[in-house]
Amino acid sequence: MSRYTGPVCRLCRAEGAKLFLKGDRCYTEKCGFAKRNSKPGQHGTRRGKLSEYGIRLREKQKLRRFYGIHETQFAEIFDKASGMEGQTGHNFLQLLERRLDNVVYRLGFGVSRRQARQLVCHGHFTVNGRKLDIPSALLKVGDVVAVAEGSRDVATLKENAEASAARSIPAWLSFNVEAMSGTVVSAPVREQIDVPVNEQFVVEFYAR
Ligand code: SF4
Repeated sequence: MSRYTGPVCRLCRAEGAKLFLKGDRCYTEKCGFAKRNSKPGQHGTRRGKLSEYGIRLREKQKLRRFYGIHETQFAEIFDKASGMEGQTGHNFLQLLERRLDNVVYRLGFGVSRRQARQLVCHGHFTVNGRKLDIPSALLKVGDVVAVAEGSRDVATLKENAEASAARSIPAWLSFNVEAMSGTVVSAPVREQIDVPVNEQFVVEFYAR
């Protein structure tokens, strides 16, 4: 399946929620969703009533688009979550949060998950001192993500890291602006994962 390359604000409007796909712009009045909260397309203002299946499908799509993951990989992560002990929905969100690209985004090294993924793929990060360029790599408690030595002067990373010092970082991560690094201090609990999704509907979608 190919990656969506169209205007990302359409995705927020299609899902009826802010998915924060465009970095700093998402927090300004220029946000496409804030300006026009209707479905994209000619008949966008007409929102029909969704079926029970439709509600669950939309919730799944919203979550998938929030993290920007392909359908196949997304379903594989769900399979892994359902094989773990505990609540599947919570496990699923935890696995999505602990991905390297998401942690890089949460630490503020990327202004969006898309940019964070690109920075990881370009080899700008190390995990526990070793270069890692796999966005889907799963981090565990104690792992340290840092900007690679040769990438510390990359303008995008410097600007993002400086701006990040003023932003709030999730409590399950710590950030060291001088070292340009962050540490996973605990596994994220549901209250620390700010996704506008009812994960139980996603579980029910895959269980159908
Ligand atoms: Fe979505 Fe608004 Fe960000 Fe566009 S600017 S991606 S509509 S949150």
